Amino acid sequence: MHVAGSVHADVASPSPTWLTVPADVNSLDRELWSTTVTRNEQGALEVGGVSVVELAQQQGTALYVLDEEDFRARATSFRQAFDGWDVYYAGKAFLTRSIAGWVHDLGLCMDVCTSGELVTALEGGMDPERIGMHGNNKSVDELRLALSSGVGRVIVDSLDEIDRIEQLCRELDCTARVMVRVTPGVEAHTHEYIATAHEDQKFGFSITNGAAMVAMVRCHTSNVIDLLGIHSHIGSQIFDTAGFEVAARRTMKLLEQFRQATGSALAELDLGGGFGIAYTSQDSPATAESLAEALREIVAVEARGRGMKIPHISLEPGRAIVGPTTMALYTVGTVKPVDLDTGAQRIYVSVDGGMSDNIRPALYAAEYSAVVANRASKIAPVLCRVVGKHCEAGDILVRDVYLPGDVSPGDVIAVPGAGAYSRSMASNYNHVPRSAVVRVGTGDDPDVSVLLRRESIDDLLALDPGPVRAAVQYP
Ligand SMILES: *Cc1c(COP(=O)(O)O)cnc(C)c1O
Repeated sequence: MHVAGSVHADVASPSPTWLTVPADVNSLDRELWSTTVTRNEQGALEVGGVSVVELAQQQGTALYVLDEEDFRARATSFRQAFDGWDVYYAGKAFLTRSIAGWVHDLGLCMDVCTSGELVTALEGGMDPERIGMHGNNKSVDELRLALSSGVGRVIVDSLDEIDRIEQLCRELDCTARVMVRVTPGVEAHTHEYIATAHEDQKFGFSITNGAAMVAMVRCHTSNVIDLLGIHSHIGSQIFDTAGFEVAARRTMKLLEQFRQATGSALAELDLGGGFGIAYTSQDSPATAESLAEALREIVAVEARGRGMKIPHISLEPGRAIVGPTTMALYTVGTVKPVDLDTGAQRIYVSVDGGMSDNIRPALYAAEYSAVVANRASKIAPVLCRVVGKHCEAGDILVRDVYLPGDVSPGDVIAVPGAGAYSRSMASNYNHVPRSAVVRVGTGDDPDVSVLLRRESIDDLLALDPGPVRAAVQYP
């Protein structure tokens, strides 16, 4: 392919089959971007009417920019579509005190799985009654905090944990409301799901080997535990409802067997989260409305078939609420054409972030997309790889993307779909301070505020007792 006017050499490198050369390299695939994102007359992206050029200048990069209107709309559409059911926002996807306040005000519930998440949720104003506490290895201190602050439910994951809860209930003179996490033998990832015969993973109690029933009966017969029901979570970034259908069938069957064994009907069933979002043009996620319709039908059919009442259902979307609300902004530092064995070239675009602020591509080959965000370009697209600044060859942010052939140092790159499991999984690898997260609203002009401030080298060194042998002035 000849790239007219490109500052780089011709690029004929093999791109993945799903990735097509964009007809207009400046256009935005609406599925990938939060609702208030547009490209303005100067060619720069705007969020809530605020230019990303301004945001990058004022806040620095790498920067996460969350579109508050979009967050509220997605959370609300889940709550409304699943009206009558409970929607737990999975706080581990991304959580700050402000986010907890929004989730509370919008009428959702929240999942947390550590003391850190629980304290953040409570301090943000989340009603403890609407909090569920997860985790396969909650410490005694974490369980004590959960029980003493009155969380609505603890999702238990082992017999050791049940022992600890009983002991704490006696210590605190309280009753624990509990869901038993079960593994329904189905694991869903992206576009496919695998029904596994053995559940070779750390979460939950197996239904097939009887461990789930043992744990349920154990909770049911405890005089300090109030067993509400059972919980299953089958995976992440799921695009169809086939896996949920299998999980619903197996968990409803378990509820039926429990009723037959004990004479008691459990009222609640949690089907977990994992609803997929669009990271690249190959993803087409379902809407909350169509998911709700499909899941309601699945549950109704299962209940009818067993002559059971439909249990009270809860769901736990994390990514599907916060993922699409946020873009990551980076500044390009270097642009390097690299010759491939095939004779083609790949353009490596290095930015001022990477695996420390988004580990997902390195951790499980997650795919992303990107655009040049500070300007429009008339130059034809070239196949690029956006990489970070860390000392790992696997420090890749966007494996394959077409960017304008004149992408250059100083350009701002925006990566959509960066709201979930990116900043929340951030590290300080290479002593890189973690990036800030700002929210942009649609109120006062400009309506920008900090959700998480940028970390400084001072913050990092505050953990390091020294000794300091030489004082250094640093920016
Ligand atoms: C992570 C997790 C979720 C949320 O998953 P998403 O893919 O973000 O929707 C829900 N429930 C449990 C138990 C989880 O571990």
